[in-house]
Amino acid sequence: MNCFDQVPTPSFVVDEGLLKRNLELLQSIQQRTGCKILLAQKAFSMYRVYPLIGRYLAGTTASSLFEARLGREEMGGEVHIYSPAYREDEMDQIASICDHIVFNSPSQWMRFRNQIQASGRSISCGIRINPEYSEIETDLYNPCFTGSRMGTTLAHLDPAQMEGIEGLHFHTMCEQNSDTLARTIQVVDEKFGHLLQHMKWINFGGGHHITRSDYDVECLIRSITFMQEKYGLQVYLEPGEGVVLNTGFLVTSVLDTLQNGMDLAIVDTSAACHMPDVLEMPYRPPLLGSGDPDEYPYTYRLGGPTCLAGDIIGDYSFPHPLKPGDRLVFGDMALYTMVKTNTFNGVNLPSIVLQHEDGSFEIVKQFGYEDFKSRLS
Ligand SMILES: *Cc1c(COP(=O)(O)O)cnc(C)c1O
Repeated sequence: MNCFDQVPTPSFVVDEGLLKRNLELLQSIQQRTGCKILLAQKAFSMYRVYPLIGRYLAGTTASSLFEARLGREEMGGEVHIYSPAYREDEMDQIASICDHIVFNSPSQWMRFRNQIQASGRSISCGIRINPEYSEIETDLYNPCFTGSRMGTTLAHLDPAQMEGIEGLHFHTMCEQNSDTLARTIQVVDEKFGHLLQHMKWINFGGGHHITRSDYDVECLIRSITFMQEKYGLQVYLEPGEGVVLNTGFLVTSVLDTLQNGMDLAIVDTSAACHMPDVLEMPYRPPLLGSGDPDEYPYTYRLGGPTCLAGDIIGDYSFPHPLKPGDRLVFGDMALYTMVKTNTFNGVNLPSIVLQHEDGSFEIVKQFGYEDFKSRLS
């Protein structure tokens, strides 16, 4: 039983049972290896389920003060943070919340080290390295492209500035399998081994598609144990996508159908407002019960209710013609959706729903005019 025909539309629906299945796999990797896995909140910040996630994972990682605070308040466990550059006026608060602070450059570390040491809390600091090895072909998602600001390359890591640094962090993957990780680890070992000897931990970043059906968990485990055995390091992973892969849905209703050389349907969810990665990545989200164009008899181009001509979700075919009021359910909508929504065109935000394992569901949040108005003045 699911709630797709009962929720208001549009709604993000996160399925607790599916989420637990992902968390159990991640927990088993922690138990087998002793590594620690953190939720990267940048991909998913539905804090209603943080207590559940906190039962399986070691904590959260953040890209900003606000995410760090959310992780501390709603999940607990360890709170880590990385930012390309920290603001002076936020560092005291960050130091009062975070257990690990990862700096993008030695100069940021030099700038803040006294302030952090004066905080009186035991904070472990690290540097994000750029291993200059990545298998990502799209520059938008490749932290190692020429001129990238993400992390420090070997040539710019002055060992004299590393004093007090306890860990290295790299993040060079995106939706990848563990064979990519194994090749990356080899480069990190060759280039940065002399520094790793003096470290307490290494953070493999995110981009690990651990919960995907074809993911090679054994190869991941070999990479983790390699770093543990060779350098005695505590290994961290901080997947975002991997935690909530295939656990969420976006339920939408058809508002109208029309024709212009092909069949068109306008739905009450927008790519631009509710799933911007569809336009940014770009990608075609899975839609339950539909096929590729012409796979079924009725093919439609689905578009959003905004005035942006390019607010197109994609072309899909159906066994039956669409009519106003029909419900459509997009899959894999937990990651990089709720955290990226906006109210462009005054379009309301989707409700947030939690589907429980016993078939019941809970409307966690509904939005309205005040949410739109409060961000403007
Ligand atoms: C984005 C990001 C993550 C999570 O990446 P996923 O691709 O969602 O797994 C982890 N760590 C850092 C530093 C990131 O920027």
